[in-house]
Amino acid sequence: MSSTNNLHGLTMEQFKELRSKTIAAKDVAYCPYSKFRVGSAVLCHDGTFVIGGNVENASYPVGICAERCTLVKAVTEGKKGFKALGVATDVKNPPASPCGMCRQFIREFCELTLPIFMFDSDGEHVVMTLGQLLPMSFGPDSLPSAEEMEKIRA
Ligand SMILES: [Zn+2]
Repeated sequence: MSSTNNLHGLTMEQFKELRSKTIAAKDVAYCPYSKFRVGSAVLCHDGTFVIGGNVENASYPVGICAERCTLVKAVTEGKKGFKALGVATDVKNPPASPCGMCRQFIREFCELTLPIFMFDSDGEHVVMTLGQLLPMSFGPDSLPSAEEMEKIRA
């Protein structure tokens, strides 16, 4: 379930870069209300990284988590396909994991085998796949086509 030496197909170099970029991304967090910094980074199939942080709002529910910020940036920059996602916070035992809303958001764009590396305040990590974090999930392939739905309803 968790491991410190299973890199899920990443090279050690890719893992180290994901780790450093994820942890550094805590610095871009905008969290004047909670002070809970979250950094995130995604390794794209083209070998590039995109980072993001949580962005809070005076109207609290309007804020967005770091993982969704990162993926929104990546998707709108035309990135297709992701190899790994990192998330880092200033807590430990255990490291924070993506919230339920983010797990569903990640599901839209990533394979269930996507490794999600969760880094704690010391930079130690737990890694789980998206499928482990979101079992029996509902994704794009769960929706029948409009044509199929019409047949089902008829
Ligand atoms: Zn979230």
